[in-house]
Amino acid sequence: MPTPHTTLAWMAEGNALCLRALDGLDETSYGAPSLLPGWTRKHVVAHLAGNAEALGNLVQWARTGEPTPMYSSPEQRTATIESGATLPGAQLTTWFTDSARALTDAMATLTEDQWSALVVTVQGRTVPASETPWMRSREVMVHAVDLGTGVRFTDLPTAFLTELRADIRTKRGPDTLPITQGHPAEVTAYLAGRPYSGVTTTNGTPAEPLPPWL
Ligand code: ZN
Repeated sequence: MPTPHTTLAWMAEGNALCLRALDGLDETSYGAPSLLPGWTRKHVVAHLAGNAEALGNLVQWARTGEPTPMYSSPEQRTATIESGATLPGAQLTTWFTDSARALTDAMATLTEDQWSALVVTVQGRTVPASETPWMRSREVMVHAVDLGTGVRFTDLPTAFLTELRADIRTKRGPDTLPITQGHPAEVTAYLAGRPYSGVTTTNGTPAEPLPPWL
């Protein structure tokens, strides 16, 4: 796992990519489908804003020692996305910007001991708080692509993509995945369950799509 120094920089880069993806969208385009099945761009942005607040709870947990879960329940997580997706686009962009800034500011106050404090993610994994900037950078980088306004996996930093492939292989279970070849960015898109091209298995046949991850 790269240090927070690296992952905080990826987080900032992912935030900027999302903002660039949203820049200039009119209300119709904002409400149009994203690349994620069943989600408009508004759903994606509401999810990202809710995710920043949820990770803020983990940062607070690390700072105070008081357990504060990411979400109070799976229903709350879904309700935040569904109600957020009905907001005007300009309001969603403001929510995204403000929540991302609040998370960055909160992380900037953590001491070395607090970065090592253990917190529990929504998947029930116990991790040091130092993993939270990585969790956030995954969200902003991959969903910047999902917004479907032109950001592609090939636009993401090479070192980030390398880390993401390793992370997804571990989470999906390395033994369940075929050995594939192709452009590293396309292989990452394939592993993430996103649209990809030119990824083949060792005998040269096109790799079968995986279900979306994240
Ligand atoms: Zn997500």
